[in-house]
Amino acid sequence: MLQADGENKRIKKQMPIFSSVGGIAKLLVALSLLLSVHSCTEQQLETTSMRPAPKMILIIGDGMDDQQITIARIYLSGNNGRLKLDELPYRGVVQVQAVDEANPGQAVYVTDSASTATAIATGRITSSRRIATSAGTDERLLSIMEIAQSAGLGTGIVTTASLTDATPAAFATHINNRFCQGPADMVSTIGATRTPVNCSQYIQANGGGGSISEQIAALEIDILLGGGTQYFDQISEANSAMSVMDAAVANGYKVIRKREELALIEADTKVLGLFSPSTMPVRLRGVGGAQAEKIERINGQVRLPAAYSCEPNPQFAGMPTLAEMTRAALSQFDDVRGFMLMVESASIDKQSHRRRPCGSIGELAQLNEALEVALEYAVSHPETLILVTADHAQAAQLVSEKVSLLAPNHASPGFFARLLTPEGSVMGINYATTDWPRQEGHTGAQVPLYAFGPNVNQLPSFIRQAEIFGIMERHLGLGSH
Ligand SMILES: [Zn+2]
Repeated sequence: MLQADGENKRIKKQMPIFSSVGGIAKLLVALSLLLSVHSCTEQQLETTSMRPAPKMILIIGDGMDDQQITIARIYLSGNNGRLKLDELPYRGVVQVQAVDEANPGQAVYVTDSASTATAIATGRITSSRRIATSAGTDERLLSIMEIAQSAGLGTGIVTTASLTDATPAAFATHINNRFCQGPADMVSTIGATRTPVNCSQYIQANGGGGSISEQIAALEIDILLGGGTQYFDQISEANSAMSVMDAAVANGYKVIRKREELALIEADTKVLGLFSPSTMPVRLRGVGGAQAEKIERINGQVRLPAAYSCEPNPQFAGMPTLAEMTRAALSQFDDVRGFMLMVESASIDKQSHRRRPCGSIGELAQLNEALEVALEYAVSHPETLILVTADHAQAAQLVSEKVSLLAPNHASPGFFARLLTPEGSVMGINYATTDWPRQEGHTGAQVPLYAFGPNVNQLPSFIRQAEIFGIMERHLGLGSH
């Protein structure tokens, strides 16, 4: 397993001091290290304080299972091609685990991003919809991001979802239900099914920490980039004269809303970047908005839908790419101090729910490009570990693009797309987890883990999802919290 460098002197910080004058504190740390340079021999320098601290970049492809990777690889690079992912030196598999809320001893085999991100972020298995809290008992589970921050490391969260969505939320906040994203959402119903949501014990008047956006506004994470203005524009429960956004500004966050502003951020300022009302628009769509559809039969004969290709999604114009956001986040961290950065490509999953293969492909391309940025950084900072994984599997399957291979005149009973690839063949992509017209569900297959960095050849080829936490914790040298 990966071991933290025992000689490395991590810089412990007293949080209240750093949180108020984070930039000055970083400067002082850099200065003190520079001063120590002058008082050390060259040999000491090589082995002690100037050795850069371990750095961790975790990249999560939401719903990025082997089906999604294969479909994206074929579309983006051809059947003989490779993704950047495929060049990483370690490739293992991860068993996804969750438990039942009412009976936490009972295994659940298909779960959601809230419980899976909680497993990755905290090392603890929980139930669906829970954000860094325990199944049944609602215990607060400390995340790797919080532990890193307490140890004085840099911290960052980048996502193409709302920052309040399940995956980013599990790294920084704690609540019993992922849908309590803003103060107005604490007791509500969600979606077409009117499923009840109740986070009343987290309402501040009841002694709780507030909604996810309110908890984010109170954070000391160095950089937060994603979507979700609608949850920050709500009135703060603590002060009815303020929005949650105002509370974030009062807490020292510089709020940015435009792609161009990413280039202007300053390393000594906490940044909250919000680029869309909710999930950020995706890069690709089917030509004219085409997506998977139910197969028609005419006089008992299967009538296959027309093949289509992908095109740029006009709504994506002006959005920062995931790679640009990743680069901006990395620019916030100095070379000496360690950091924990989580980068999520969220809509591989969300587009698969909507049966839009082009959408998922474009977001997997975004992940691939963000990985390129991370790899560039890791090559010049060899103390960096990059892990790439998925939280859970999704619905899409790569199937025959014609009728059933076994029985002519039979075809998918689900929703089916025929995707014309740039190399001129056709992929059949099937979605059949449910007959609900609105969206597909997740599936329960194992997910991939890729790694690049120190000692990755010592990682086991099979792990359970919660063990990813331990890999990150050991790499960062944070084992004694
Ligand atoms: Zn999902």
